Amino acid sequence: MLIFRNKAPLTAYLQEARAAGQRIGFVPTMGALHEGHLFLVRAAAAQSDVVVVSIFVNPTQFNDPEDFKKYPVRTDTDTEKLLASPASVLFLPDVSEIYGNVKGEEPLEHYDFGKLETRWEGALRPGHFQGVGQVMARLLAAVPADRLFMGLKDYQQILIVKRLLALLSIKTELIPCPILREKDGLAMSSRNLRLSPAARRQAPLLHETLVFVRDHLDAMPRAKLIARAIERLEDAGFEVDYLALTGEDLEPVAAGDLPALCIVAAWLDGVRLIDNLAL
Ligand code: AMP
Repeated sequence: MLIFRNKAPLTAYLQEARAAGQRIGFVPTMGALHEGHLFLVRAAAAQSDVVVVSIFVNPTQFNDPEDFKKYPVRTDTDTEKLLASPASVLFLPDVSEIYGNVKGEEPLEHYDFGKLETRWEGALRPGHFQGVGQVMARLLAAVPADRLFMGLKDYQQILIVKRLLALLSIKTELIPCPILREKDGLAMSSRNLRLSPAARRQAPLLHETLVFVRDHLDAMPRAKLIARAIERLEDAGFEVDYLALTGEDLEPVAAGDLPALCIVAAWLDGVRLIDNLAL
């Protein structure tokens, strides 16, 4: 596996590979890698000749500076995991390599993400998706990828990146990949590392509640079902940001329409967890 810390040699290497007919797959991450990430790496390897993984904890997508400070950094163990995976290139830039020296820089770009910006994660984490757009535009400029592999755990992020690709006329194809879960149903996440042992035991209730909603969709009025689901979570110590039934575009569904997804975000033990379930 080749390791690059700088954009220019990485881009030159990948352009040469592309010119030689190799297909480039790209898996952007913020590190503290788990099986969910490694699944994306394997999915990329099945459809690419060169698999690029980036690890970059992007400061501009953290609306809460404390969350950024506490984000787990595990570069050594991440590198070991990737060495044992089909990844062929690791991109490990630092903040100045991605954003340049802040002094004298142009202001960061602002993208029109429409309603996605003001719904759910967008409403609760102001600026978060602008940060995702800013970093993805820079990463994709450095990594000329044929395909981009991202997890459906961050469903809204997938819609945002799809829109970004269209806005910037980038030809990279976005491949959404399924949510990997622990045996007890908890969606794998780097943030799970921050849960106390007691909170970790409670955490699977988030997925159980999504399953409860799915299984009772026809059994009770929707408003009552959602209220019951939120109550279950609150009784177990969660603080719920939202739990909702939506269409594939994440818009709320009208009373007569079938929802496509149940989405949830909740705090447990000072850690914010998100999950979703296709219905
Ligand atoms: P992150 O490092 O959290 O920014 O995630 C990097 C990529 O891995 C994103 O595309 C995530 O959606 C994806 N990902 C994170 N957790 C999971 C999971 N449990 N299953 C599948 N993909 C995931």
